[in-house]
Amino acid sequence: MRAVHRFTVRAHLPEPLQALGTLATNLRWSWHPPTQDLFAAIDKNLWSEVAGDPLKLLARVPADRLSTLARDEEFLARTRAVDDDLRRYLTVPRWYQQRQDEGGTLPSSIAYFSMEFGLTDALPNYSGGLGVLAGDHLKSASDLGLPLIGVGLLYRSGYFRQSLSPEGWQEEHYPVLDPRALPLELLTDDTDRPVIVRVAMPAGRMLRARVWKAQVGRVPLLLLDSDVPDNEETLRGVTDRLYGGDADHRIRQEILAGVGGMRAVRAYCALTGHPQPEVFHTNEGHAGYLGLERVRELLNDPGLRFEEALAAVRAGTVFTTHTPVRAGIDRFPVQLVRHYFDDRASEPLLPGVPTERVLELGADDDGAKFNMAHMGLRLAQRANGVSELHGKVIRSMFSGLWPGFGTEEIPISSVTNGVHGPTWSARELGKLLGESEMDSGVGLRGMEPVSDSLLWELRCSLRQRLVDEVRRRLRSAWLERGASELELGWCDSVLDPDVLTIGFARRVPTYKRLTLMLREPERLKRLLLDPQRPVQLVVAGKSHPADEGGKAMIQKIVQFADDPEVRHRIVFLPGYDMALARYLYSGCDVWLNNPVRPLEACGTSGMKSALNGGLNLSVRDGWWDEMHDDHNGWSIPTANGVSDPARRDALEAAALYDLVAGQVVPAFYERHTDGVPAKWMSMVRNTLASLGPRVQSSRMVREYVDHHYTPAALSAKAVSEDGYRGAKELAEYVARVVAAWPGVRVEDSELAVEGPTPLLGSAVTVRARVELAGLDESDVDVEVVVGRVDDDDELHDVVTQPMRRDESRRYVASVTLPHAGPAGYTVRVLPRHPLLSGRAELGRVVLAG
Ligand SMILES: *Cc1c(COP(=O)(O)O)cnc(C)c1O
Repeated sequence: MRAVHRFTVRAHLPEPLQALGTLATNLRWSWHPPTQDLFAAIDKNLWSEVAGDPLKLLARVPADRLSTLARDEEFLARTRAVDDDLRRYLTVPRWYQQRQDEGGTLPSSIAYFSMEFGLTDALPNYSGGLGVLAGDHLKSASDLGLPLIGVGLLYRSGYFRQSLSPEGWQEEHYPVLDPRALPLELLTDDTDRPVIVRVAMPAGRMLRARVWKAQVGRVPLLLLDSDVPDNEETLRGVTDRLYGGDADHRIRQEILAGVGGMRAVRAYCALTGHPQPEVFHTNEGHAGYLGLERVRELLNDPGLRFEEALAAVRAGTVFTTHTPVRAGIDRFPVQLVRHYFDDRASEPLLPGVPTERVLELGADDDGAKFNMAHMGLRLAQRANGVSELHGKVIRSMFSGLWPGFGTEEIPISSVTNGVHGPTWSARELGKLLGESEMDSGVGLRGMEPVSDSLLWELRCSLRQRLVDEVRRRLRSAWLERGASELELGWCDSVLDPDVLTIGFARRVPTYKRLTLMLREPERLKRLLLDPQRPVQLVVAGKSHPADEGGKAMIQKIVQFADDPEVRHRIVFLPGYDMALARYLYSGCDVWLNNPVRPLEACGTSGMKSALNGGLNLSVRDGWWDEMHDDHNGWSIPTANGVSDPARRDALEAAALYDLVAGQVVPAFYERHTDGVPAKWMSMVRNTLASLGPRVQSSRMVREYVDHHYTPAALSAKAVSEDGYRGAKELAEYVARVVAAWPGVRVEDSELAVEGPTPLLGSAVTVRARVELAGLDESDVDVEVVVGRVDDDDELHDVVTQPMRRDESRRYVASVTLPHAGPAGYTVRVLPRHPLLSGRAELGRVVLAG
């Protein structure tokens, strides 16, 4: 029989155990081992059956067990202690409050928008790295005390659950989630009625969403859910699943996340007294419509003009992009955007916001496309990529939006991603090295007193735990593939707890090259089956349901691993999620990463491995490009300059085999008399010490506070104070510059040298006459740019020097020549206004000549 409707009954907790309810719903339990231990103590077997999910445990634990515990003084004392600890965690001033006390003007509140959040598998609302990163961002924001609100959607079926067919083909399942069974609370108004966010759809339809709140330590996370009875059937399905459906489905999700999300934040702050955000952080372009909703608000009250509202919105917005390729960017057909944002509709989505202005914000080189990253950049005064290398790549990728500027001047910075230490490092390691250090994110200091043999013993026990888990999961995966228990005896001896273990787990887009290791199957086999010094591999990953190529790669790995000759040394595990990830990151000795450089914007799984003393074996891409050294892992050489992908893959795979056989294997198997591999352990120590502090999301969030949130809050104040005087001035200034700019010219410029040839280090004088076309002298900067020139007269290694007007109204500067050899200079004019965040912001520059 099939149920017509499903619902969840929450357990009734006896009065003395009420605190368990709070402890189970505040997701801080997911990174707080003592809270987990408390729940485990309720019923050890049940705890492992429900995969460590406190709410599920409470729903299933027998009532008589609860009443026994309600009389158990020891358990009650323990509950009180954990509850007190949570209370302290939620109230005691933390890093952010100390910063405020030191007199910093930090934002009173920040809203963080993302289409997915990966916090724990008890709330499966993510597909992969982007979501887990957003989850880690919230957790560190909580640890550091940031007044941050997360905003996103709640998907009825999350992403998907992966299994394998007998032939090794990926199969997707979409289990239905009941929000009432999840660690969520419905946002209600003063009369206890659910808050409903409304967003107008074309043809007079209305999309409604209720708002669920997850509590992530100190940080609330608002998740919009369109599955409410008042919605017509097709609109109920807007939040059905993550990354499923066509462009129309997707744009509805993004409109709900951005526009609806903004409205949810407003309602939440009004109801709870949480300060309204001053800063808005868009994690990837998907939620970018939030900026348009804020424009609408400002047009409505205090009645700003569009350009003024735009200036005000930009000042407080931070945009982070995560892809280094154009294909990775969300682009909608312009007609589709026009359809939803039509301002002449009977009930427009954003009353007062002209559709044409919306379309300009997302303008793409392809006139038929609306580019969400371009809109993100145009709606934010501050933007960044997610590693140094990624920043460099996207400054050049987006340079077209700032014509006339050198790529290094493009106003996109980088904040390298990080991962949440307490979530991702094995608790045993925390114990050994000092837990409080990890919690504060200061890093893994205090390692000196721990001996190599203790640390090695711990690494071995983590590997053993992984092996046990792999055997368990492999058996159940085979049962799901249709095997019978009788033929699965071999699963119990898969992998060897003493063998060098390499992990590779990630989503399966082509660029990550899941199958690079299979390039020369015989060589891989020799590594796996070496009688003295074998290697074993654990592989996992999900392919996007629509990506047949990705599924074919998975099948190729699975079929290789199915071969009885090697199946004890290589395993593909279906169902890559955070729970499996934790076993992999802590248990693998080596974390393999072989993307096509530079397509991995950052990559975070290797960071999680490093936090556990795993050694990275990676292409110099993403975070590894900036953090690798010769003592914390190995860099796989890349075939730079080779354009044929097949040849590049062949070269890089060969380099990988060489590296494993020539360096990784010997370092692991060369042992001291006490059985400890000395060289290996020195690399483990280096990894923990040098990477430990740098790879953590606490470092990342602090960087966002210092370099983005705080400056954005200052800018937002500057434009909004005094009835948005700054925004009006800035808009007026921009209009003036835009109008005058075509007439601005550097008329003639000349270089005066003393003596026949200029000498290195000597001063030369540059003069120029500039036509300002009606702009005031104070509206612009005029400067001379000097540097080396190449054969095409392109300038490199430039230095700039401001020019001042002399009595004859010519601009003059005296420059010291910085380089010997062929040199050149030019003169340029740039907009200048105190409310601009930088000189390239308006994308306007006039060059001499
Ligand atoms: C960290 C993580 C990822 C991202 O890993 P990448 O190295 O960025 O590919 C994906 N899925 C899960 C479950 C993770 O924990």
